[in-house]
Amino acid sequence: MEDVVVIGAGLSGLTAAGQLHQRGYRVRVVDKSRGLGGRVATRRLATTSLDHGCRYLQPFADPALSPIPALLASGILQPWQPETFALEANGSIRATATATLYAAPQGMSAVAKALAAGLTIHRHWRATALTPMPQGWHIEGEGLGSDSQSEISALEARAVVVAIPAPQAAALVAATAQPHDAISDLVQQLQTVAFDPVITVMAGYSPQTSPWLSQQTAPGGWMVTGDAHPTLGWIALDSSKRPAAKAAEPKESVVVLHSSAEFAAQAIDRPDLESVGQDLLAIAAKPLAPWLSSPEWMQVHRWRYGFVRQPLGVSVLSSPAWPTFVGCGDWCPGGQVEGAIASGHQAAKLIAQALV
Ligand SMILES: Cc1cc2nc3c(=O)[nH]c(=O)nc-3n(C[C@H](O)[C@H](O)[C@H](O)COP(=O)(O)OP(=O)(O)OC[C@H]3O[C@@H](n4cnc5c(N)ncnc54)[C@H](O)[C@@H]3O)c2cc1C
Repeated sequence: MEDVVVIGAGLSGLTAAGQLHQRGYRVRVVDKSRGLGGRVATRRLATTSLDHGCRYLQPFADPALSPIPALLASGILQPWQPETFALEANGSIRATATATLYAAPQGMSAVAKALAAGLTIHRHWRATALTPMPQGWHIEGEGLGSDSQSEISALEARAVVVAIPAPQAAALVAATAQPHDAISDLVQQLQTVAFDPVITVMAGYSPQTSPWLSQQTAPGGWMVTGDAHPTLGWIALDSSKRPAAKAAEPKESVVVLHSSAEFAAQAIDRPDLESVGQDLLAIAAKPLAPWLSSPEWMQVHRWRYGFVRQPLGVSVLSSPAWPTFVGCGDWCPGGQVEGAIASGHQAAKLIAQALV
């Protein structure tokens, strides 16, 4: 039996696991994906990488919780200074002040890898049900890979941290073998949380294409936010975050585009994702730059649980009936990566108190 099983290797789960590991607990992290980091996600391509989830980090409101200074010192993060614009609802563009942004030249998933150092992580294993036992928790799951760990059908632990998006946590908690009032209470709380979906387009352009926007005043990186736009949420020259694979060679330009929540809600289940991606690039090309609609290659990803629209409003999900259960993630306090990390810290604190 482990001391703690952490379900979910996103930044909240890795933070909780790291804190508990540092306090001397035996911790095992499980994640259904092959990679680490959840929505802090990097796709590896033949000659480059791109961030199709979290784009950058910004200075934390609470510097005590911020991993940014350590990540800068180790070279994992570097300042990213694109020229920034806002795309208005009517398609007009205006330059905006540049915020302080930090990106990872190797891809943002390097942030997750740094937080995961020293932890025992069981990947490609999806937790399917969670049942309280007199001395802890029984966690059923299924292996999704072909390694020997994938054959494990259940884990047991004195405490459990559920660090997965609230709708998935609700399904996991509801699938218990022992219905209990506290379970219904947790599920009810989880059901108050709402997420917005996002459709992400990744597109590559030949080194011969000039990757500038019509509005740009200086060559280099650019980023456009579309907070008021009905279709486009955000678009940027992702390749400006990283150096060329071979310094002497001209660099392929890579653009990453995130749709608005409104657009994604309508298109998330469309089977023709390729044409959804082409539509989004064509919509971006009109106000920004004609070359955007003619990529050499394109990939599309759907995030069913992209951004938190309605958080739980507290730092973690907990139940007085079960001090050894804690739910954490950005969906608890809101606030994206900073919220996820703050929630992971609080989860570790509560579990450590419950295990003394
Ligand atoms: C497109 C996009 C862009 C973003 N850009 C930014 C940004 O620029 N800056 C910023 O601060 N934030 C950004 N965010 C938000 C940020 O990525 C999240 O707030 C943060 O990564 C959430 O971390 P988390 O640990 O709470 O959840 P997640 O990252 O969602 O981690 C949950 C993990 O649980 C795993 N999992 C789920 N179900 C199970 C199961 N049953 N069993 C095992 N494992 C399971 C998943 O595979 C995943 O790895 C962005 C998000 C998206 C989608």
